[in-house]
Amino acid sequence: MAKLLASKIPANVNAARPSGRQELDVHPQVTSRPQPLTWPSFLSQVRWFNLTVELLLPLVSLYGLCTTRCSVKTALFTVACYILNMIGITAGYHRLWSHRSYNASLPLQYFLALAGAGAIQGSIRWWARGHRSHHRYTDTDLDPYGAHHGLFWTHIGWMLVKPSVKPGYADVRDLNRNEVVQWQHRWYFPLALVAGLILPWATSGYLWGDWRGGFYYVCFLRLFCVHHSTFCVNSIAHYLGETTYDDKHTPRDHFLTALLTLGEGYHNFHHQFPMDYRNAVKWYQYDPTKWFIVTCSFLGFATHLRVFPDNEIRMGELSMSLKRLKSVQDNLTWPKSSADLPVISWETFQNEASSRPLVLISGFIHDISDFLDQHPGGRDILQRSVGTDATAAFFGGIYDHSHAAHNLLTTLRVGALHGGLEQVDEHALPPAQKLFIADATLQAPGALTHECL
Ligand SMILES: [Zn+2]
Ligand SMILES: [Zn+2]
Repeated sequence: MAKLLASKIPANVNAARPSGRQELDVHPQVTSRPQPLTWPSFLSQVRWFNLTVELLLPLVSLYGLCTTRCSVKTALFTVACYILNMIGITAGYHRLWSHRSYNASLPLQYFLALAGAGAIQGSIRWWARGHRSHHRYTDTDLDPYGAHHGLFWTHIGWMLVKPSVKPGYADVRDLNRNEVVQWQHRWYFPLALVAGLILPWATSGYLWGDWRGGFYYVCFLRLFCVHHSTFCVNSIAHYLGETTYDDKHTPRDHFLTALLTLGEGYHNFHHQFPMDYRNAVKWYQYDPTKWFIVTCSFLGFATHLRVFPDNEIRMGELSMSLKRLKSVQDNLTWPKSSADLPVISWETFQNEASSRPLVLISGFIHDISDFLDQHPGGRDILQRSVGTDATAAFFGGIYDHSHAAHNLLTTLRVGALHGGLEQVDEHALPPAQKLFIADATLQAPGALTHECL
């Protein structure tokens, strides 16, 4: 059965194909700029239908919560409808149609199209078009819910007011060729009405007689939760959490966002690797939408689950870890190199050591005046080394000092012995500097170098 269904899913069912320029449905160029907002212009820009819906949902839900008892059956059915609608949005609208992150059989596509229509968030075509602009123009004025406009705008404001700048161009030719997307777009309003309101309400009314609970909880409260869960992907997913893979833009990873959005909370990962069918790449992270897609794949309803190469995912993660470590490194005091120190001869070193305690170790001359009384091995051992090359004694001849002692020693450098550095071994580099993080720079075309330690 599974194999039979899988064989009916074309490999490229969602893949974009090159075709003629006449199929483009939007203008790729920016044609307008944000206009200053005045009160009369604001009123003319309000999307009154959306505003009415987004006000009615919480108000009617609140009235229902205060006046209507919720039976166990109605409560469970409300949760079931919520999950169904969210799956339609996350696995369908988002990962399947916006990002083509896997291929779905026709039965699965119709299921997701109906479940998504029941969420009453616009048609697949409208939703995916805006979402592709969001990815392509993240954090700019061409992003329909650009995070630079603030949390309220990204959460709900963008839907309540007509945009002063048209969302940036997004290629939706693949969606125009998809029969399920076109069918749902054509019949969107009756489908949304039946799947989003009439069917859930009638089910709780006819099957267990709870018309009132069905109206307030299954319809209004459920839709309120579905809307705001989805809105969180645009709002708090761009505010709360870690920039695990890249910090060029605002998307962030956070468990709380994942919890609120059926697994869409690892948004930093998602913006870096949008065609990956996963949001949570680690096994312990919460991503029920990924589990749903994997289950569909196991049953034969989904194929070609796309994953970004693991090596590049780990590269992104490592580069951000190094960036964080580099800021720690930049706030530490590092020893002077031979280029920053006076280079003196053996004779000068000997003469200077007669008036102050200087010790030569690994080609560097150290002034140990302030350390004589702090030396754990006692002052006498140090004084016997004054004016000598104590390299062998420091590195095991008398006592094999710890890495911490070696790091501390480098802070006492006052000079470099002329010719001394050529004679020394790897001990000239303290342990703390052996994995030093350096900036890569391009000095000449094609020549990638690292700024020196
Ligand atoms: Zn985003
Ligand atoms: Zn996305």
